[in-house]
Amino acid sequence: MKGYAMLRIGESGWIEKDTPACGPLDAIVKPLAVAICTSDVHTLWEGAIGDRHNMILGHEASGEVVEVGSEVKDFKPGDRVLIPAITPDWNSLEAQAGYSMHSGGMLAGWKFSNFKDGVFSEYFHVNDADGNLAHMPESIDPADACILSDMVPTGFHAVELADVQFGDTVLVIGIGPVGLMSVAGAALRGASRIIAVGTRPVCVEAAKSYGATDFISYKNGPIDEQVMELTGDKGVDRVCVAGGTVETFEPAIKVLKPGGKIGNVNYLGSGDYINIPRVEWGVGMGHKDIRGGLMPGGRLRMEKLASLVESGRLDLHPEVTHLFHGWEHLEEALFLMRDKPVDLIKPVVVID
Ligand code: NDP
Ligand code: ZN
Repeated sequence: MKGYAMLRIGESGWIEKDTPACGPLDAIVKPLAVAICTSDVHTLWEGAIGDRHNMILGHEASGEVVEVGSEVKDFKPGDRVLIPAITPDWNSLEAQAGYSMHSGGMLAGWKFSNFKDGVFSEYFHVNDADGNLAHMPESIDPADACILSDMVPTGFHAVELADVQFGDTVLVIGIGPVGLMSVAGAALRGASRIIAVGTRPVCVEAAKSYGATDFISYKNGPIDEQVMELTGDKGVDRVCVAGGTVETFEPAIKVLKPGGKIGNVNYLGSGDYINIPRVEWGVGMGHKDIRGGLMPGGRLRMEKLASLVESGRLDLHPEVTHLFHGWEHLEEALFLMRDKPVDLIKPVVVID
């Protein structure tokens, strides 16, 4: 089969590989559509997970099952499926402890294009098919379904980590495709005010449609000063972090009220330490939590998130700004995600 692979850090291209083998609990799936993620960019060009040779890229897809293992109960060839980017081993001790995303080791629930070949290929392998796949509702089209792989569960996980409550004022730092889903998730959880940080006009417009009420640019001076001005020096109850750097935690702590929580899903690619401002952290006693996590993955989450789309409470269309048809456009879509033109949120390639 053909797959689009990372050949080494900074180099990618099409390669030939054997079709993956299907174990008793597994499924082999062919993609109906794939989406490019900022994480693919980090993996390929920044060596975020270290050097990899001839590893097929991609972890966001919707697909059709072509083969299932002898022990798989709920899926059969021909089923159209949602596939989460994170596919844990559900019988692991980590999953039993409530941390499925770390099944087998820290972050090891992230298997596609990390510990095994990813989804930018004619066929890909899904471990623990009954635990990880979800049936794709008829009303969700395959291109939108890719957004359910990672953007929705990751953006929403920031909201879960920040533990957003009714009436909260929430700061969302970063409104790319992930942060936009944090805005949507915070609105669904009942936030009264959502302050969004980002500059791309297309993202600002989408954030408005998802429920953001105020906007600031990190390019117009320190985030904390702008937030304190907007809130009359009160600060915010919760912060979701889906953009920025190790430095971003400093303004986040500064604007957070005592008892507040920060939920980070941003990948921190450089810098050895995160600075926590001592005084604003209540000299160690401010009850300001900093939480960071990979999204949990798995079937139940996919089914529940899909039902939000089915019921019309979550619209995925604003996320997909660049839609291509055919594998021949995959590389163009990947390069777009690297270069982030101002009109881009998410590129998706439908495999016709
Ligand atoms: P984007 O690059 O599309 O968006 C980043 C956002 O952050 C933009 O709104 C950008 O603003 C803003 N931003 C950039 N620099 C700063 C800064 N210095 N201070 C504040 N805001 C800033 O990324 P994605 O939405 O695709 O992904 C966000 C992050 O989530 C990535 O690091 C990605 O790797 C990570 N990720 C994590 C996953 C997980 O499971 N934990 C899964 C998937 C992704 P502007 O409008 O100017 O571009
Ligand atoms: Zn992703």
